[in-house]
Amino acid sequence: MKDETRLTRLGRPHDERGQVNPSVARGSTMLAPSAAELYDFPPGRVHYGRVGLETHQALRGALTELQGGAGCALTSSGLMANTLSILASVEAGGTVLAADCIYGPVRNFLLTTMPKFGVKTEFFAPRMGAEIADLITDETQAILLESPGSLTMEMQDIPAIARVAREKGVITIIDDTWSAGLTLKPLQLGVDYAAQALTKYVGGHSDLLMGAVVARDEALFARLQATERSFGFHTAPDDVYLALRGLRSMAVRMERSFASSMAIADWLKSRPETGRILHPAHADHPDNALFQRDFTGGCGLFSVEFPGWDIPKSERFLDALDVFGMGFSWGGYESLAIHCDPQLKRTRTTHRHDGALIRFAIGLEAPEDLIADLERGFAAVA
Ligand SMILES: *Cc1c(COP(=O)(O)O)cnc(C)c1O
Repeated sequence: MKDETRLTRLGRPHDERGQVNPSVARGSTMLAPSAAELYDFPPGRVHYGRVGLETHQALRGALTELQGGAGCALTSSGLMANTLSILASVEAGGTVLAADCIYGPVRNFLLTTMPKFGVKTEFFAPRMGAEIADLITDETQAILLESPGSLTMEMQDIPAIARVAREKGVITIIDDTWSAGLTLKPLQLGVDYAAQALTKYVGGHSDLLMGAVVARDEALFARLQATERSFGFHTAPDDVYLALRGLRSMAVRMERSFASSMAIADWLKSRPETGRILHPAHADHPDNALFQRDFTGGCGLFSVEFPGWDIPKSERFLDALDVFGMGFSWGGYESLAIHCDPQLKRTRTTHRHDGALIRFAIGLEAPEDLIADLERGFAAVA
């Protein structure tokens, strides 16, 4: 079956009650049927609520199946999906190789928290492929990918990097929030852990923070789960239910946002103010061939260069918009725009663009209304 169909079926209860959706199962204490089973519980029996009840099982099962993995851990944010994957993969004395385009707060975690545990990070130029072999040393324990990268949208050759890493015994992690595990299947391309912010397209309504990590095989899953449980991470069942609810309509929402984003990208390209369009699915993107090869679709998130613009000019443009909101996060029903320059950080490479970089997250509005809004913005800076 196609993913659109699977999204309507995965994680649903099939019991005699006939309920379409799982219940929101709240609970800490789970009573044991006998004194013997208090300490020696059979596999599969939940002995304590922290590990998650039926609502959690439904969402974890759905995400695992959607990605074709061996198991899933839920986290309280997308950031924590990344940090949990890293913690499960490394130990003192190790080095993480991270794409220089990773999400800023993950960069911060690697640079401020991991050194306390004796783990170093080195960044690599984000348009990377099999040549990553030259950067791997005896200390390298994990490679962190994000493709397309946050804000600047560079792409990596995911299967090539996964192959090299596997040969050298290095774990690969991808922050796969852009595809939501729907239009890209990183585990099928050989990646070990697929982490994402469910906050974005899975939630889809800007009312939820959550993350998930899906592991490629049983051994990787055991490692992930042991780490998750030792820290005591937990997600609230009401939020888990919301994520599962969002998952049902995710394919249509993403398809709509993607189609509108391509129409808007084409319109922007026709404007004299616009430089390069950094949308993986757009012919302007330098790594468009990787997108065509590995992805089955896109989403509504892309960035655009405006040559010659400075930050005050970007601010005037953004302040003139009425339909687009300004805010972090994305993947909700409402369109957003932000100027990226104040938060662009790079260690190993510089992202060179002439002028300003503005990121657009296209929601579910009519593209005509969004284009009219952008015309207002251009008029304000003319
Ligand atoms: C938003 C985002 C995150 C963090 O998600 P939160 O749920 O807000 O913590 C991580 N990675 C990427 C690529 C994101 O866009």
